[in-house]
Amino acid sequence: MNRLIAENVDAMKGYTPGEQPRAPGVVKLNTNENPYPPSPRVAEALARFDTSVLRRYPDPMATALRRRLADIHGCATDCVFAGNGSDEVLSLAAKCFAHDGGSVGCFWPTYSLYPVLAEIRNVRCVTFPLSADDGFAWRTPDPGFRPDLFFLTNPNAPTGVLYPREAVASFAADFPGVVLVDEAYADFSGTTCADLATAPGNANVIVSRTLSKSFSLAGLRFGYCLGPAPLIEAMYKVKDSYNLDALTQAAALAALGDLDYMRANAVRIVESRTVLAAALAARGWTSTDSRANFVFARPPRGNAAEIFAGLKARNVFVRYFPAPPTTDFLRITVGTPEENAKLLAAFDALNA
Ligand code: PMP
Repeated sequence: MNRLIAENVDAMKGYTPGEQPRAPGVVKLNTNENPYPPSPRVAEALARFDTSVLRRYPDPMATALRRRLADIHGCATDCVFAGNGSDEVLSLAAKCFAHDGGSVGCFWPTYSLYPVLAEIRNVRCVTFPLSADDGFAWRTPDPGFRPDLFFLTNPNAPTGVLYPREAVASFAADFPGVVLVDEAYADFSGTTCADLATAPGNANVIVSRTLSKSFSLAGLRFGYCLGPAPLIEAMYKVKDSYNLDALTQAAALAALGDLDYMRANAVRIVESRTVLAAALAARGWTSTDSRANFVFARPPRGNAAEIFAGLKARNVFVRYFPAPPTTDFLRITVGTPEENAKLLAAFDALNA
């Protein structure tokens, strides 16, 4: 114990991000990045960028970006928060909506950052378990489950399972706290709850999005959320003064000006997801019905840890979450058809 460090921080382990191997020849299917490059408009915006602008601080309210997002989602600008990756959005939500001595909640398994955000905020994280037996399907938490803030990933990660919009809507309608629907993967699912967040009578639903996945911009760090103006205003009170640098604002605006490009890539990835899931099924693997840009699958002999290590030795990186209930599964990001073929060749070499 180090008494110089706040107790909750000293006690916590911190979030473990997926590995970021940089060696050439690596097949990187471990952190749900997009295998295709971002829109050419991003490169154009950066090439055009006037560096003399960097003398000044950036727009603290990211006004142009929020206007563009309000336009895309058909809502008022004050219903949009623009953040440094959706991780910042999630972190600010924990700061704003978890009360002292209260709690945040989530399903389990889900995005493993949420419990860490609770530790940082020094509140409990209560989890509502999902089961491998029914493919990690939606279960409505019982009425006694009442954290201040519920993080609901849809489609879920790492399972890929899409919860029905109606189930989310009726759960949120009865829930006394804030429901944050994390839609990091929504562009691959064909469904969104964004309209719940922008509906005129909505008081407690926030929907977060990111450019890291469908827009191929994980290295840029831009995410946002939609929600009722009072909740968005609370987030603006606690963010860093200049949370979005000028380059990010320019590049994100360019990407958001080319939705067709993003959608075409999402279609390609969804097609590859179907092909990959079928190839796994042909090898005896069982997969969840993933609606994200990854598959979540169990090898026929249940030896996920062994296959994970074998793949890594062959320079193929996937993600493995060893703790139950995900011990027997691997999460595999959908790559290009060529990358997916290399993955399958590695499976064959491993007799997986
Ligand atoms: N939500 C979920 C469910 C994720 O999987 C991720 C990616 N790790 C994020 C949010 C964070 O994305 P960003 O790059 O926008 O911070």
